Amino acid sequence: MKLKPPPLHTIIASSFITLVFLLGFPTYIYITKIHTEQLINDRGMMLRALARGTATILAKNMRERRREVELLAQTPLFVRAPLDSNDFDASLSRLHQSYAHYSWIGLVDIKGKVLHATNNNLTGQNVSSRPWFQHSQQGTYVGDLHEAAMLAELLRNKIHEWPIRFIDFAAPVYDEKGQLRAILGAHAHWRWASEAIREVMPEDANKRKIEIFIVNSNNEIIYPDHPEKIPGAPVAPKKYKTDESSFHNWGGNEFYLTTVASVSEPVVGNKWPLNWKVMVRQPRDQVISEVNSLQRSITLGVAAAAVVFVLLAWMLGDYISRPIIQLSKLAKKVSDGDDKIQFNISANSKELKELNSAMEDMAATLLTRKHALEDANKDLQSIVAERTAKLEAANQELRQLARRDTLTGLPNRLAANERLLHEFDRMTRSKEQYAVLMIDIDFFKKVNDTYGHATGDVVLTHVANQIQASLRKTDFAGRVGGEEFLIILPKTNQENAVSIAEKIRRNIKMSHVEPVGYISVSIGVAMAEPEQESAPIAVDQADKRLYAAKQAGRDRVVSV
Ligand code: GH3
Ligand code: MG
Ligand code: MG
Repeated sequence: MKLKPPPLHTIIASSFITLVFLLGFPTYIYITKIHTEQLINDRGMMLRALARGTATILAKNMRERRREVELLAQTPLFVRAPLDSNDFDASLSRLHQSYAHYSWIGLVDIKGKVLHATNNNLTGQNVSSRPWFQHSQQGTYVGDLHEAAMLAELLRNKIHEWPIRFIDFAAPVYDEKGQLRAILGAHAHWRWASEAIREVMPEDANKRKIEIFIVNSNNEIIYPDHPEKIPGAPVAPKKYKTDESSFHNWGGNEFYLTTVASVSEPVVGNKWPLNWKVMVRQPRDQVISEVNSLQRSITLGVAAAAVVFVLLAWMLGDYISRPIIQLSKLAKKVSDGDDKIQFNISANSKELKELNSAMEDMAATLLTRKHALEDANKDLQSIVAERTAKLEAANQELRQLARRDTLTGLPNRLAANERLLHEFDRMTRSKEQYAVLMIDIDFFKKVNDTYGHATGDVVLTHVANQIQASLRKTDFAGRVGGEEFLIILPKTNQENAVSIAEKIRRNIKMSHVEPVGYISVSIGVAMAEPEQESAPIAVDQADKRLYAAKQAGRDRVVSV
């Protein structure tokens, strides 16, 4: 079975839609892939900025503490005053109050004995074993976070169960000659880190599950406190590239978009660098869900665009095919014989406009030809009618000619036979008899022989005229042989028939024909009676009586 071709409308619309999907779908996939990468990259950049900001704040904060301790150690009081001076207590106390997170500040002699201390904590005790005391003999020292060893008892944390942790700042105190005379030490509470981080943390960090960690040189998490107690017990990833963001595993099953920023050293060029790092992480699922929500908007947009495009393609198909459909309808009307077609389709292109006017011209030409054909047809019909009439007339003439004798103008044998049959039929119905006369010119051969054939013809015509002149209009006279005539006398009895025959014979006998002179005829008379079987019976009888008339001497009428 042959399939019906689809409508142009459908072809155009579906081609466009297919084209759009063929081009659009891979583009959409490609763009969303690129876009996803771009979005993840953007998230990474944001985390990186956060890590760097945090690292900068931390470094700045530590540098400030380091500078405070350094500057205090260089004041004239610390350089010159006797180490047992009470002025030191006041000076340490002022520094303590200047910064909320100092927990302890003390002046220690070169043997490690605490001479002065804020709130007199640890005064008189020996701290020579503390790393900050040992390291700071060679220059300013910022010590790694440690749990408070000696201060633990004195500064027991009331809120948290776990021990308080400090970061140490220490600076050597030199006399005017540059001789080391004491060590100035300060412990800052680790909670300053939380405050510094709170400052840089974005407001929606919690909602977006962004977390900041500080990691020491051993890759241990030092902020937040006690990471093992945080859900999931995070373990800082070891292999990473600073200033880049990538997905890392933090000990559990989950992966995190992670970025790392180094905290610059508070003391430049010392032997005990901190090597701290700020790590910022966001769960991969969270990143993906943020990306996905954006992706969903894009997909929705693309889907809406696709719907609009399908609609446009459909409208385009309609726009292109409509005038063609209109044209084909008009052409159909023309082929159905409608004369009054207006080719005024809403052509929307040059080609369609041309097609429209071409079809209009074609329809006009067809119409002109149709009219011409109709006219020709009419002419032909009238010619045929005329010819038929002429033919009929000719036939009529021919029929008459066929029944007429050309010489005498009388009906011939054919016509006489027809008239006989007709009269016989009439008699059968009306029961009225008719008479038949057979007439033959006497010694006619002699006329021909003596005067020639032409004169014979003249005599024949003369006799015919004499016969006709002797008859009524309703009577019939025909030439049925060379010089033989048949007469039919309707509604005529024997007596009348004989008298008419006598009248004919007399008229001919009495007439005169040049150069022959007088001629005579012999006549046989017979009656056609209703009881007779056929028309020829009466004729045969008349013929026999004519023969009898000849036998009896000619120029007479025989009727019995
Ligand atoms: P009869 O008295 O016995 O009738 O003698 P007849 O001479 O008339 O003899 P017949 O009837 O046998 O002869 C007829 C002649 O008529 C013969 C023929 O030459 C002549 N004839 C027949 N038809 C025509 C014709 O049309 N024109 C002329 N001129 N002669 C005719
Ligand atoms: Mg004869
Ligand atoms: Mg004769």
